[in-house]
Amino acid sequence: MFNNLSDRITASLKGLRGHGRLTEADVDKTVREIRRALLDADVAVPVVREFTARVRERALGEEVSKALNPAQQVVKIVNDELVQILGGATGELHFAKNPPTVIMLAGLQGAGKTTLAGKLARWMKSEGHTPMLVAADLQRPNAVNQLQIVGERAGVPVFAPEPGNGVGNPVLVAMNGVSTAQFQQHDVVIVDTAGRLGIDEEMMQQARDIRDAVNPHETLFVVDAMIGQDAARVAEAFRDGVGFSGVVLSKLDGDARGGAALSITGVTERPILFASTGEGLEDFERFHPDRMANRILD
Ligand code: GDP
Repeated sequence: MFNNLSDRITASLKGLRGHGRLTEADVDKTVREIRRALLDADVAVPVVREFTARVRERALGEEVSKALNPAQQVVKIVNDELVQILGGATGELHFAKNPPTVIMLAGLQGAGKTTLAGKLARWMKSEGHTPMLVAADLQRPNAVNQLQIVGERAGVPVFAPEPGNGVGNPVLVAMNGVSTAQFQQHDVVIVDTAGRLGIDEEMMQQARDIRDAVNPHETLFVVDAMIGQDAARVAEAFRDGVGFSGVVLSKLDGDARGGAALSITGVTERPILFASTGEGLEDFERFHPDRMANRILD
């Protein structure tokens, strides 16, 4: 993934047999290699800086264990720190005590929100929930129709604006959708919202208005993994503009290097809960920090 990070670490410490501690010169050599690999993988610079500082500190502070050689020891430290920065344990969605649990999706246009809404609904259904989708993205002409299609494929009902009933007013659509879900006794309601191509104050305001109207239990920030370290900047804007409780990385099938995942978690300290890995509804998985760390290393 990172052009094989563990091989790069091993090569940088070639020939060392371990007892005692690694020397400062050896640690600095391998840390330089790790820094280069992370930058090659398009990880945001502040995240690279903090990550390598932590690896350096631990590598200098730890005795090389008898069971491992120095390179294996550093690989283990890097693995631990990767898991840590990616959130540690696998994150969980929080469900409301009194249903329905309201999940709002936010993110830029094209991030994969509408696709994700269908995937999440399908997954929820397979877990025994009774989700409803709400089409509150009225910005993109085709978004409502697209949500209806993914809802049909997922076998999940979609609340969409009807003529004379909130057309053009996404806040009203979101509110009506949530109260309809409550009335029809759905235990989860997933609200799709509008994005723009870039960060835009009007979009943020609309997302805030929807948030304030429906009071979501979870707000998921959906972000295209292909944008690499730029994901950190977009995530910060959404964190400050709307706030979110968890992240969904979409198009992870296209990001061979994991730069977006590390950049986002390093900057926002919000867990990545799910990954979208293709255009099909079944291309969806829970995000496991330890598996991602393995992918990055190997
Ligand atoms: P939205 O504007 O945020 O609602 O984004 P869409 O859900 O419409 O997705 C934008 C484009 O990305 C569509 O062509 C989707 O088929 C595609 N897409 C969404 N998620 C994924 C994914 O995980 N992998 C790939 N390869 N494409 C995806």
